[in-house]
Amino acid sequence: MSRIFLSRAHVTEVEERLVLEALRSGWVAPLGPMVDRFESEIADRVGVRHALALSSGTAALHLALLAEGAGPGKVVVLPSMTFAATANAVLYTGAEPVFVDSSAGDANVDVDLLVSAVDTLLAEGRDIACVLAVDLFGRCLDYSRLLPELEIRGVPLVEDAAEALGASHAGEAAGSFGHSAALSFNGNKIMTTSGGGMLLSDDVELINHARYLSTQARQPVPWYEHTEMGFNYRMSNILAALGVGQLSRLDDMIRRRRQHRERYAAELADLPGVRLLGGGLPEDASNDNCWLTCLVIDGVGTSADAVVAELGKHEIEARHLWKPMHLQPLYSSARAFLTGASETLFAHGVTLPSGSELSNTDIDRVISALTGILKGRVEAA
Ligand SMILES: *Cc1c(COP(=O)(O)O)cnc(C)c1O
Repeated sequence: MSRIFLSRAHVTEVEERLVLEALRSGWVAPLGPMVDRFESEIADRVGVRHALALSSGTAALHLALLAEGAGPGKVVVLPSMTFAATANAVLYTGAEPVFVDSSAGDANVDVDLLVSAVDTLLAEGRDIACVLAVDLFGRCLDYSRLLPELEIRGVPLVEDAAEALGASHAGEAAGSFGHSAALSFNGNKIMTTSGGGMLLSDDVELINHARYLSTQARQPVPWYEHTEMGFNYRMSNILAALGVGQLSRLDDMIRRRRQHRERYAAELADLPGVRLLGGGLPEDASNDNCWLTCLVIDGVGTSADAVVAELGKHEIEARHLWKPMHLQPLYSSARAFLTGASETLFAHGVTLPSGSELSNTDIDRVISALTGILKGRVEAA
């Protein structure tokens, strides 16, 4: 029985051809025509003016936060339920992360709680560098509600759209909402450059300064001259070629992941005590890139742990949702505004195999294994 993975890179001859072209062109460096092309194609796709290709999404977040002045004595407000990269980027700057709980419906940050956390911090006289919002599992946050609240308070937004390329909210693309936004092209994301990321912004000065920092902050003189600390964060031309190929196939890959989502929704809907995160219905999914389909099992008397372990016995890779940052040993002493929603989601949420390379037979196998496991639980209960 072959193993079914959660979300694998899906690469074809299209990418092979472009990578070979890049190699043969002699541009085997973290700059070159493929980098330029990848940046301009991503900027067009998302509808932002400027894009900077980087070595990772984490690097993009780090540079985005520096651009907002994040540093010692400043606060960055962000969701507790996210991948550690979001929070780690805050630590890199020396700013203090303050976490906010999820809304139970789609696991994205609870907007009302976020706004009240901002008000509390402002009332205390804290200096908020920015809110760092995350579009979790490929679904945009409700920016129609959040953005006006932040504008009134004069707090900038940075968007962590690492999981959400191709998603949209109210007709605007993920990656277009903040003063700047970060994308990730890590191996398991909706599209990949094996490892890579992108910083997006309409602000040309922000992008130019980030580009300068990302190449060791070299002064424009004939020798290596440095007046401040820089980073080695640029993307290689070879990997940008992989990205150009993947981007040309992005809509096909999203369509395929959406088909998997719809199968899961149709086949799992009748099981008692389970729901798909974010609803998972076709009309609801229109804003979602369907990166990962997540099942919440809260009425069956079973834990995510047990389901992940049992699927593993069927050679099916499922995972927990992101373990909330306020439960991580690294962040246990950080300040957090909590309702308990993300803890519940963590205890009962499972991400299902969602990759665009999965066949219908693979999805059938997941559904039949899951149905067996969950029915067994209900009967035992
Ligand atoms: C993947 C991811 C990142 C980090 O991206 P890398 O390219 O792996 O550095 C940041 N935030 C979120 C929410 C992610 O899922």
